[in-house]
Amino acid sequence: MHELGIVFHIVKTVEELAVENHVNRVNKVTLQVGEVSTVIPEYLVDCWNWKCSKSEIMQGCELEVEMIPAVTYCEDCQQTYGTVEHGKICPHCGSENTYLVQGNEHAIKEIEVYNDDEASDTPQVSADADGLERIPEMEESQE
Ligand SMILES: [Zn+2]
Repeated sequence: MHELGIVFHIVKTVEELAVENHVNRVNKVTLQVGEVSTVIPEYLVDCWNWKCSKSEIMQGCELEVEMIPAVTYCEDCQQTYGTVEHGKICPHCGSENTYLVQGNEHAIKEIEVYNDDEASDTPQVSADADGLERIPEMEESQE
């Protein structure tokens, strides 16, 4: 299953980032999924919940899926248009000389973590929080 492969890859990436940043719990991951990427968000969430239940760091982690609209570019009239509405034929000039510019990808947009203050076995997490190398766009919520 396509979704399972994606989930394995994302969970592995997030786990590695969490370990590098001395994070002991990941709260939520926001994933951007292209409109024509053939990924089915419901399957993705099912796989996600199963995979996270087997991971200490990712236990109970929420997955938010954000759709990226698919956009096609026309080489003849140099305009873009919505892929889902018009397909391969340019609605501006009728050309078939077009290609997809976005909407077939998936990417991690945001990783949200929380530091568990009661986890006394990992005191360095809160003590060194300001010195941590930050994951881009990573947010911490204190809960
Ligand atoms: Zn065109």
